[in-house]
Amino acid sequence: MDNSQPDRDTESTLPAESPITGASANPFDASSAVEQHILIGLEKIGLALKSQSWQDAGQQGLTPTQGQILALLIDQGESGMRLSEVAKNLAVTAATASDAVTSLVEKSLVQKTRSPQDGRAIAITLTTQGQKVAAQTASWSDFLLNTVDELSAAEQVIFLRGLIKMIRKLQAQGQVSVAKMCVTCQFFQPNRYSDAERPHHCALVNAPFGDRHLRLNCAEHLAADSELAKQNWKRYLSQSSHPQPD
Ligand code: SF4
Repeated sequence: MDNSQPDRDTESTLPAESPITGASANPFDASSAVEQHILIGLEKIGLALKSQSWQDAGQQGLTPTQGQILALLIDQGESGMRLSEVAKNLAVTAATASDAVTSLVEKSLVQKTRSPQDGRAIAITLTTQGQKVAAQTASWSDFLLNTVDELSAAEQVIFLRGLIKMIRKLQAQGQVSVAKMCVTCQFFQPNRYSDAERPHHCALVNAPFGDRHLRLNCAEHLAADSELAKQNWKRYLSQSSHPQPD
């Protein structure tokens, strides 16, 4: 379990950028590649998220992992989740998930019951008190919303597209275990229409939708088989994104 609370102002883990001063006629010629600037930016956002999660979870007397488990369970209702699913969704070990769930049981925020789907399996569900606390912990990342609003509508669409590409790659590398994204869903039909506002189609709800509606964590997601996923990805990339002017 990660017990080391980060300091919001601590940046020692960030990779250093090359010095701007140097012998070169134009110092920017020797400066670091754009990839490194993006990496540093992502690290800064990650640091802010980690710091905020410690702060918010701490106010509830929870660790961030415990807070994340409550936020995860809030959408599961009475069916709850198995311990292995909790660990997979949070990309933590089974032992870490088990420790956190045990603490939450002791705090009367979650309970272990027989799974309604499989009587032999144990499901973890929220107690009434846990539902109240979960509603608060689920919004701990909302502080970032006003920073996203700093982006224009077109920038938001391009940013979302970039995130989808990065998360898909992380998933392929096994570094993100669960990503219920449209681009990997069997209901996704990319670029089916010529309408730049709504080029895609969701076969589940039989409706067209745009790049700005692409989901990263859809509850109705069903994974496409590898061949369909490959075809859809190619088709999705075949068109440039369709950001609309502000
Ligand atoms: S079911 Fe959800 S993830 Fe799948 S295409 Fe529709 S909106 Fe996207």
